[in-house]
Amino acid sequence: MNMNEFIAAMPKAELHIHIEGTVSAKKVLELAERNGVDIPYASEAEIVAAQDYSFPALENFLDYHYMCSSVLRDGRDVYEITRDFLEKCRFENIRHVEMFFDPQQHIERGVSFDDLMEAMMTACQASEVSTGLIMCMNRERSLESAMEMLDLADKHREDIIGVGLDSYEEGNPPIKFQEFYDRAREDGYRLTAHCDCDQKDAVKHAHQCAHDLNVDRIDHGLHVLDDPELVEVVRKREITLTMCPTWRPSDPEPRRLKALREMLDLGLPVCLNTDDPEEFASRYLTHMMQSVQQKGNFSAEEMTQFMRNAFRGSWIGQEQRAIHLTELEAHLEAYLKQN
Ligand SMILES: [Zn+2]
Repeated sequence: MNMNEFIAAMPKAELHIHIEGTVSAKKVLELAERNGVDIPYASEAEIVAAQDYSFPALENFLDYHYMCSSVLRDGRDVYEITRDFLEKCRFENIRHVEMFFDPQQHIERGVSFDDLMEAMMTACQASEVSTGLIMCMNRERSLESAMEMLDLADKHREDIIGVGLDSYEEGNPPIKFQEFYDRAREDGYRLTAHCDCDQKDAVKHAHQCAHDLNVDRIDHGLHVLDDPELVEVVRKREITLTMCPTWRPSDPEPRRLKALREMLDLGLPVCLNTDDPEEFASRYLTHMMQSVQQKGNFSAEEMTQFMRNAFRGSWIGQEQRAIHLTELEAHLEAYLKQN
C-alpha cells in the first residue's frame, strides 16, 4: 500500500461541506435547463473557468456559488444532489459526514422548509454513510430571519444536529447572532460558525465565536493562530477547527499548508474538509488529502491525526466514534507494518 492508496482507503469523516456546493458543472447545466433558470454559463468549461475568481476571494467565490445554487428550485433537485453527494462519499470511504444546508436561500426560491428537510432526509436515510445535518444561517441576512428558521426547524429537531453561520462575513460579525445562538443552545443544538480566512476583524470574530457564542467548533478558524490566547482556548476546550485547504484551478498547490502544519504542531484539533467540492479544483476529500500530503510533506501519522481530529470533533455517539477510531488506528497500523 503506497501513500496515495493509504489515503484513499482511510476511513474518513468530513465536517465542513455545504450541500449547495456539491452540484457538478454538468448538473448545474441540467437543472438550469430543467427549471428554466438563466445562468451566465453556456458549458461545463465556462463553469469551471469561473472557479478562477479573483480577489476579494470570499465575496467573488460566494457570488459564483450562489449563481450555481440558483438552479435548485424544488425538493426533487435537492434530493438528487444530496443522493449524488452521498454516493460520492461512499467511494471516498467517508464513514460519517456532517453537511451544511442554507434554508433561507431555498425558501426564497420557493422550496418550503418541510420539503427541503424531506428531500435531504430521504437521501440520507437511503445511504450507508452516516450523516448529520447542520442548519446554516446566511450572516448577511437579519437576526429576525435566523430566529424564524429556528421556529421552522422545531418540528425537525431530531433530524438537525447543529446550527452554523456562513456567507458574506465583512460587517456581519458573529455577535450579531448572539440571541440565535443562545436559543439554539437551549433547544439542544450543537454550535458552529464560520470564521473565514483573510477577513476584516478575523481575530475579533474568532474571539466572539469562542467567548460570546461559546461554539463547539469553528469553521476554517485560520486566524486563531494570530492570537496566543485563542490558541490556548481552542486547545483547552478542544474546539475543532474545520480547515478547508481548497484551491482554484490556477493555484499551484493547496492553500493554507503552512497554517495546517502550525496547527498540528501546536496540538490544535484541526481537520481537513472540502467546503464546496464541486466549486474548487481540490474536489473531493481523497484527492484533496493526497495533494495536501504531497505538497505539505505530511507523514502517514500526521494524515491520520487530521482524521482522528475529525472523528473526535464529530457530533456522533461515543460508541459510533469509538468504532470509527478503532478502524482508523488499524488502518494506520497496517500501513506502518508494510512501510
Ligand atoms: Zn464553508
